Amino acid sequence: MNSLKLTNSLSRKKEVFKPNNIKKISLYACGPTVYESPHVGNARTLVVFDVLFRVLKVLYNSNVTYVRNITDVDDKIIEASQNNKEDINEITNRVIKIFHENCKSLNCLKPTIEPKATEHIKEMIEMTSSLIKKGFAYENKNHVFFAVSKFKDYGKLSNKNLDELKAGSRIEISDLKKNPMDFVLWKPSNEKDPGWDSPWGRGRPGWHLECSAMSEKYLGKNLDIHGGGLDLIFPHHENEIAQSCCNNNTKNFANYWVHNGFVTINKEKMSKSLGNIISITDATKKYSGQVVRLALLSAHYSQPLDWNNKLLENQRATIEKWYQLYEENNEEIPLKEIDMLLDDLNTPGFIAKIHELYANANKGDEKSKNFFNSACKLIGLFDLTKNEWEEFKKVDKDISEEFIEKKIKERLVAKQKGDYKLADKIRVELASKGVIIEDKKEKTTWKFK
Ligand code: AMP
Ligand code: ZN
Repeated sequence: MNSLKLTNSLSRKKEVFKPNNIKKISLYACGPTVYESPHVGNARTLVVFDVLFRVLKVLYNSNVTYVRNITDVDDKIIEASQNNKEDINEITNRVIKIFHENCKSLNCLKPTIEPKATEHIKEMIEMTSSLIKKGFAYENKNHVFFAVSKFKDYGKLSNKNLDELKAGSRIEISDLKKNPMDFVLWKPSNEKDPGWDSPWGRGRPGWHLECSAMSEKYLGKNLDIHGGGLDLIFPHHENEIAQSCCNNNTKNFANYWVHNGFVTINKEKMSKSLGNIISITDATKKYSGQVVRLALLSAHYSQPLDWNNKLLENQRATIEKWYQLYEENNEEIPLKEIDMLLDDLNTPGFIAKIHELYANANKGDEKSKNFFNSACKLIGLFDLTKNEWEEFKKVDKDISEEFIEKKIKERLVAKQKGDYKLADKIRVELASKGVIIEDKKEKTTWKFK
């Protein structure tokens, strides 16, 4: 059988994937922290692991369990709630809804299980108690810390020793820790913050603990593949390994670690802190989910991917061209035709192969036409029928929520200055793009026509 190869971050080598049990393949990918609309960088992780899930399903049929968690308790969420003056549950429910819509528009398959951190607090408390009992963690003033010096393999995934890690990272300084590198498993919550009763008082879990507890519950003590973005290697994944291996007395937590590279804009990582994010909602509204998806797959997952208009215009032209040979078929593609994907998810290579199939199909080769359509569907393209694609193209895309809010602000300033002509011009401009604004007592609201 053609076998799958993956670059394992643990060995930094491409390895043949050998599952623990071919009847029970396990894949865990760290999911979003739900405090703001996900951006195109987050979309890359979603799409890369969705392709891996699809490939595993081709190889192992329905014996694949894919778990992607939702982090719905975290300091970033508490901070956002204070900044937006929005209730925590409202924020998390609102963002989870957007996240699910985004996954749908990107045509990502639903993971087998999507556990929420807040629904697994019991497991996290148990794991913390157990780590204290085994001597790997200690309590201090309602906090519980993991003592990194107790785990000799700490730093193995990031390929650094403790001193190097200390020098290279921004670590939270605290008098409560015995070693500055120790990390928190449990911390106290004040009255207003989300909290649960525990042996160490009312509090909440640390982020790393969430994934260790949830992955164990659904996938067991030793999983096949664990994934996420490159930025999660340290400290997040290093800490997950420490917690799980120490608690379970195992040598390996996940056998294969797969990390995707960053989406960048002008060579800088797309991130909220740099203020250069493009939301998935805006990108998919403008270009469609499949154009965004094809763009995300146009580079190898381990490489950086620069996001720019040229990239998107090229992918749009490709999709437009490919729709000329669109067919509703359900034929399976033979394994030998997907060797590029099996070779460390070489999506650019596979896309080149689709171009080849397209060219042959265009010369009248029916078999190539079938394979071409199956290949597109295999990587999650052609989720819209040809008619739906034609309809999508008719909608005016040149509009984002950010643009509308900006225009509404400009109009307010114009009105305050008494420039009613400009204010009216802005209203007409928005109306021409299908946006209706209404002046209410307190503020201006808007809706699409
Ligand atoms: P977060 O919600 O920040 O925890 O991120 C969710 C996932 O998106 C993680 O796997 C991150 O590594 C990944 N991620 C965040 N920013 C980027 C980026 N610019 N490019 C690629 N992946 C990213
Ligand atoms: Zn995680």
